[in-house]
Amino acid sequence: MNKPTIVILGGGVGGIVTANNLVKLLPQEIDIVLIEKKNHHTFAASYLWLMVNKRTPKQITTSLRGLVEERVNIFFEEVKHIDTENKTISTEKSKIDFDYLVIALGAELDKTHLDKQQYGVHNYFTYEGAAKLNEELQNFKGGNVSIVISSLPYKCPGAPYEGAMLIADFLKNKKLQHKAAVNLYTPEPLPLPVAGPALGNSVKEVMVSKGIGFYPQNQLASVNYDERKIELASGALVHYDLLVVIPQHKVPEVVLQSGLVDESGWIPVNKDTLETKHNNVFAIGDVTSITIPGRWQPDKPMKLPKAGVFAHSQAFTVSEIIASKILGKESKEIFCGDGFCMLEVGEDLAGFAYGDFYGSPHPEVKLKHLGKIWHWGKVLFEKWWLAPIGFRKSILKSFLRIGSSVLKIPVKL
Ligand SMILES: Cc1cc2nc3c(=O)[nH]c(=O)nc-3n(C[C@H](O)[C@H](O)[C@H](O)COP(=O)(O)OP(=O)(O)OC[C@H]3O[C@@H](n4cnc5c(N)ncnc54)[C@H](O)[C@@H]3O)c2cc1C
Repeated sequence: MNKPTIVILGGGVGGIVTANNLVKLLPQEIDIVLIEKKNHHTFAASYLWLMVNKRTPKQITTSLRGLVEERVNIFFEEVKHIDTENKTISTEKSKIDFDYLVIALGAELDKTHLDKQQYGVHNYFTYEGAAKLNEELQNFKGGNVSIVISSLPYKCPGAPYEGAMLIADFLKNKKLQHKAAVNLYTPEPLPLPVAGPALGNSVKEVMVSKGIGFYPQNQLASVNYDERKIELASGALVHYDLLVVIPQHKVPEVVLQSGLVDESGWIPVNKDTLETKHNNVFAIGDVTSITIPGRWQPDKPMKLPKAGVFAHSQAFTVSEIIASKILGKESKEIFCGDGFCMLEVGEDLAGFAYGDFYGSPHPEVKLKHLGKIWHWGKVLFEKWWLAPIGFRKSILKSFLRIGSSVLKIPVKL
């Protein structure tokens, strides 16, 4: 066996899972390099709770080093150039050669509507944004709250709707429900359109029951910050006191320059193996573009949503494929398109949406009844995800030990 180097770009959901799984699958002498510009990690799904004061910034932040196996060599540097021809990655400080590359650099947010807090414009898709919006909501005395999905696609198809419901709940708890209106504007026909009309209508019903105004098929045209008005593509003008924008998403600049992006604006990959047009160069998570069957019109295919759950399972697929190649084994591993999400609706309740996003003739996604169990499932996952890797492994070992003694099955630990 030769001694190849695997380089993973991006230490978010996809990058962390890829690195840790490769450690499990490959012998010590294989170099696993992770390049990430930030030395801390924040759990994005918890930005919603941070926004409504259910988490402090400290509770959802941890050191990246603690989440990743010690054997992984982490470069805390910014990727500046991806050279797929010469198989080299450049950062501001280093040049690193690779044999296998996994691009997990996520989506970047357009800055147009960010840092406009003095005009009452906020967002909760960034950690800093969610923290500032929390302060704003705590001081809010009433008025029009407009939540606007500025463009498609965006990460986590449920997040804007969860956000609207959590904000409505927060204002209700502040006894502001009669002094505040919460309205959501989106270019989509229904919430979570990828999941089809039945699920979308169920989510819409819950929103409406909370008094949230839902305005589908409304594209944001512009924002007049001084007059605090949004203009929609229809020409309608809406006054806001607090504007919560889901910003436009795009690939990081370094990915755009890599020659890997197609007309979708994202990296097209083989939907089963996640390999790009270059041999042994893979891309996973938000940075990818994967076409799936249409849900509304069969002749109009859609894109796989951007979500942590997909980045997570794609990371398993890619690490299995790379390890098999290195070990000279045949790999049957493919990404099957299954996904799920706990959809927070407020009052510590959540729904559970799950299904086969590769389903034919269209994705098959169902929603379980609202329950506290799904909310607590999400909380447990958050705690698990943010726990240091050593702690996670010892908990797992304890479970296995208890399981093996109860079931009387010998388990090698
Ligand atoms: C409010 C909110 C709620 C969400 N809730 C859910 C949920 O409930 N369920 C779910 O499945 N998903 C959820 N998501 C989506 C989920 O967080 C993302 O889909 C997931 O993080 C994507 O993983 P990734 O590895 O592709 O990218 P990321 O996790 O974003 O990681 C990308 C990493 O690359 C790094 N990076 C970028 N450019 C460079 C560079 N040039 N050099 C070095 N490093 C770089 C970034 O710093 C980042 O750490 C939510 C997202 C938000 C914003």
